[in-house]
Amino acid sequence: MDCLFCKIIAGEIPSAKVYEDETVYAFKDINPMAPVHVLIVPKNHIDSVNGITAENSAVVAHIYEVAAKLAKELGIAEDGYRVVTNCGANAGQTVFHLHFHLLGGKALKVEMC
Ligand code: AMP
Ligand code: ZN
Repeated sequence: MDCLFCKIIAGEIPSAKVYEDETVYAFKDINPMAPVHVLIVPKNHIDSVNGITAENSAVVAHIYEVAAKLAKELGIAEDGYRVVTNCGANAGQTVFHLHFHLLGGKALKVEMC
């Protein structure tokens, strides 16, 4: 499959890895929007939130566990941070492999839409 994040997970495209286990991969966003900007992705390809089902949703809970762990390790847990995923054109999704942005290290803009 011609997917940028599948290629990053496979090591075919370099990334600044911050965490990896059996089901999850996390790496620094190439265009950081905050002092800490990490992308946390499932290793198995899922297009977006639209592709989450009863069969694959356990990895989403695990991604939130990893987000909490990384937030502590990266020193943003106390001051606060955001975990966000964009789904589809109206949300501005540009890479169609499910990913969660972990953003912190500054006071983030409070904009829901
Ligand atoms: P989204 O707009 O929610 O689909 O987010 C895609 C994110 O992937 C953006 O924040 C990009 O900066 C990031 N991105 C694109 N290519 C790479 C790459 N090669 N390595 C790391 N992050 C990337
Ligand atoms: Zn993929």
